[in-house]
Amino acid sequence: MAKTRPSKSDLDSYIIKGTNNIVRAGDCVLMRAPETDKPPYVARAEKIEADNRSNLKVRVRWYYRPEESHGGRRQFHGAKELFLSDHFDVQSADTIEGKCVVHTFKNYTKLENVKPEDYYCRFEYKAATGAFVPDRVAVYCKCEMPYNPDELMVQCDGCKDWFHPACVGMGIEQAKQLDLYLCSDCASIDEKKPEIKLTESPVMNGKLEPKMATKRQKK
Ligand SMILES: [Zn+2]
Ligand SMILES: [Zn+2]
Repeated sequence: MAKTRPSKSDLDSYIIKGTNNIVRAGDCVLMRAPETDKPPYVARAEKIEADNRSNLKVRVRWYYRPEESHGGRRQFHGAKELFLSDHFDVQSADTIEGKCVVHTFKNYTKLENVKPEDYYCRFEYKAATGAFVPDRVAVYCKCEMPYNPDELMVQCDGCKDWFHPACVGMGIEQAKQLDLYLCSDCASIDEKKPEIKLTESPVMNGKLEPKMATKRQKK
């Protein structure tokens, strides 16, 4: 008797157990880690399918946290940073705990408040080699580090570079209150500029007239 291959059927969506949250292909999900002390794994659901015994399976593409990468977590990695890996898996849909949102880096930096389910991704990660795509990223400040969105930076109004307050000898509170900032390089250029002050005529705005009038009244 010929064996028939177990038939699988693709599903449009999956409702997370005990919730009203619907997961569809393309959504990002949090999946229970086997170790209870670990934060949930983050993945992108690529496909949801039921096997011939009606077990719901989800084909996922894993996001790696910086600490799970070969190089480990580095100073410029944000708390909500994830790398989209080339590591695919099939998991039981039961392990899905909830949904999350993995933003582009640009969109993440524009969020007014970051909710627990908000993450961002600016690198793809090759799990086998530990390589990142892109392999280069813009650096800022005197310390020449990529931007960590968790850290406050101030922008120089001269060169438009960004600086960590601590790297330029400034306190966080002081940095928050700045209206305008010039880095030391730009400030020294500014000093060397010849000063050409276009002084306003003293009679402008009619300010001089009342002053003179009061003087006249005094004596
Ligand atoms: Zn710095
Ligand atoms: Zn500057």
